[in-house]
Amino acid sequence: MCSAESPISMDIEEGDLITIQFKCLDCNSKFRGIGKKMRCPSCQSANVEKV
Ligand SMILES: [Zn+2]
Repeated sequence: MCSAESPISMDIEEGDLITIQFKCLDCNSKFRGIGKKMRCPSCQSANVEKV
């Protein structure tokens, strides 16, 4: 029950409602985008999931 680091933020910025945060399963980088089929901007992989 020890969460050393909690990256969860409840802050909602104005204009941030439609962007979804994704995580690349290949290079583990996080990015924001809109849409279902996103590609990682770092490695161009389509193997991403919503965070
Ligand atoms: Zn990637």
